[in-house]
Amino acid sequence: MPQRVQKDRCKYFEICGQPATWQEAGEDFCVLHVPEAQSIEALSKALNKYREAGGCDFRYMVFPREYGALSLENHVFEEVADFRNVKCAALALNGSRFKQDLIIDTGAMAHVSLEQTTIGGSLTLKAPAISNGIMLGGAQVEGVSTIEAGGSVELRLWNAHFAGPVRISSQNDLRAVWNQAAFGSGLTVRAIIRSNPESLGCDFSGFVDLQNCIFIDGCDLSLGKFRDSHLDLSGARFRGSLILGGQGAFTPSSIRIEGTVIDGDLQVKADFRARAPRLVAREERPRVSGSAEFANVDLSQCLLYGNAIQSMSFSRVVWTTHAGRYLLFDEIAEKAQHIPLDGLKETY
Ligand SMILES: [Zn+2]
Repeated sequence: MPQRVQKDRCKYFEICGQPATWQEAGEDFCVLHVPEAQSIEALSKALNKYREAGGCDFRYMVFPREYGALSLENHVFEEVADFRNVKCAALALNGSRFKQDLIIDTGAMAHVSLEQTTIGGSLTLKAPAISNGIMLGGAQVEGVSTIEAGGSVELRLWNAHFAGPVRISSQNDLRAVWNQAAFGSGLTVRAIIRSNPESLGCDFSGFVDLQNCIFIDGCDLSLGKFRDSHLDLSGARFRGSLILGGQGAFTPSSIRIEGTVIDGDLQVKADFRARAPRLVAREERPRVSGSAEFANVDLSQCLLYGNAIQSMSFSRVVWTTHAGRYLLFDEIAEKAQHIPLDGLKETY
């Protein structure tokens, strides 16, 4: 139990600038930093006062479960808003405007709500577990965005706009609800992803790196719009089908599928108005368990060796040509790598 004291400086005086009114385990704390808050009302009052004075640094502040979510909605943060090591049940920052960076790096929370926020700098969001999800619907981030979740998490990016590069990683399932999100400078994801076709109907620009991701229900990217964008699915595993294309003329310029494993069907169908996307597997062939369908695709750099040809269909495909003959890339690779010819027969 903390004891009442009257001292000049809270342990975290550099952060809060407050005198200490509580002592716990031999250390002095202000109302915002005391590990066991004694009055929710006093805590709430102190927080309002701190915000009125323009405070943006919330490090090591403690908001106990009874306090509910730490709610700072529709606020304007002039300085870097720093929520590292803050203890709270949940964090609600909807509608707020962050003129500089926003940093959230905490323990487990119920949710982080950032709907309709604008962030002028970078967004860093790290938490070991966020049981009810991360909500970024309608948010706008100018700088780099880094989102790292430890446990299973739902990540709602509906209508969010990221001008800078985005990196998302999760050590567990990531439920992607990304409808209408726009990634202006590339996207990197490392996660086990659950998605449906609508949820990936995003606007992608730049390099979209989904290497080594596992897609639990397969993946349908046919509603995505790719603008001058390269897609990398190397080493990824699809426990279902993979459907690629892109909306209308917005197909990726290239799609890397080095060693990609697809348990279901593979469908790569680009709109005929679009430039044929180049499917690239120069070193390790993809493995497709179901059927494969290619339309308006450049296969001149794609190993298909080992996949049975009778389950493949092609229309308007760009092949490698040699001396007036169409060659599968395998045949060229074969010359260099001495793959036994028996294997090639499967392909023809
Ligand atoms: Zn303090």
